[in-house]
Amino acid sequence: MSETWNKRTTAVHGGTRRSQYGEVSEAIFLTQGFVYDSAEAAESRFLQAGDEEFIYARYGNPTVRMFEDRIAALEGAEDAFATASGMAAVSGALTAMLKAGDHVVASRALFGSCLYILEEVLTRYGVEVTFVDGIDLNQWRAALRPETRAVFFESVSNPTLEVIDIRAVCDLAHAVGATVVVDNVFATPVFSDAIAQGADVVVYSATKHIDGQGRALGGVILGTRDFIRKTVEPYMKHTGGSMSPFTAWVMLKGLETLSLRVNAQADNALALVNALQGHTRLERVLYPGHPSHPQYGLCAAQMGKGGTVVSLDLKGGQTAAFQFLNALQIAKISNNLGDAKSIVTHPATTTHQRLPDDQKAALGITPGLVRLSLGIEDGNDLIADVKQALDAVG
Ligand SMILES: *Cc1c(COP(=O)(O)O)cnc(C)c1O
Repeated sequence: MSETWNKRTTAVHGGTRRSQYGEVSEAIFLTQGFVYDSAEAAESRFLQAGDEEFIYARYGNPTVRMFEDRIAALEGAEDAFATASGMAAVSGALTAMLKAGDHVVASRALFGSCLYILEEVLTRYGVEVTFVDGIDLNQWRAALRPETRAVFFESVSNPTLEVIDIRAVCDLAHAVGATVVVDNVFATPVFSDAIAQGADVVVYSATKHIDGQGRALGGVILGTRDFIRKTVEPYMKHTGGSMSPFTAWVMLKGLETLSLRVNAQADNALALVNALQGHTRLERVLYPGHPSHPQYGLCAAQMGKGGTVVSLDLKGGQTAAFQFLNALQIAKISNNLGDAKSIVTHPATTTHQRLPDDQKAALGITPGLVRLSLGIEDGNDLIADVKQALDAVG
């Protein structure tokens, strides 16, 4: 593997381990255990396993290690630990490092399950959590204090697509000695430069763009070798949230085409947003990769492209939103995102249903808001489909 490769090369070749057969496609080592040549070999491997040595699939597996090494190289991180789902990555990264009495600052606009971990789980074990408006640096400044151990945010919020300034928040957090954990799903490893921008730990739900074809749940925690092997690995391998070898193989094949897919998806998103400017049935079109977005400059500097998700706020509230969803022919009504298939979601009644109305309002999750995850279909077909579905409203 070469340190000088660009992301597209790394995504295809990074981390590859070939068996004695020289297979072209990555092998699936669908085994939970490994045979030792002798009792002495077993003893010494339990004492200290070498890079090519494995003990038990909950601790590590050659296919899983290929995925970890490839995505670590792609993200520019020293190491990675692959997990059974995105939530195993989020909860693992935080729980592995925190203890009673620690303080955490998090942005308020979070995926529902992330909010549950911070609000309901960590607090139960004596961790204090302060929530801030992630785009307001003054709120971060006011909330951070010497006992703040961790900072957590989604670099682009779901579903209102606010962009958090990774570098600025990291500078503030590092000044009090806190570890910054970035949930980077919407940026994807292709548009992310989060480690270089100061993030200590990056987590992904691999279920989203990394698989990108709706097949498997997975996740990954990325960080320094020290953090991954000394803090994360002991916690994950003993609590059980490791990725399965079969899932790792699915995700490896996903990484191969990740750049092609998410670039095509982001191009479809921008083309759609351009085509919808000034549309009479829309209250707002939210996309950080378009100059109409208040953080367009930050998004361009932080991510390059604007990502694969567009949010549309329809005039006429939930009735109009439902009519629009039901009229779409190509985009499927579901709740995943980052898939090769376009997927449309009504957050207020599904993914964010649990939030009280005042919190929905505070987060901009209006009854007319629709989240559209662009797939890799033909962009003109997608624009025509969205326009005919908007015409069907009313
Ligand atoms: C989907 C998602 C998760 C959780 O991932 P799973 O793979 O579903 O467990 C966490 N954070 C964000 C931002 C997500 O979109």
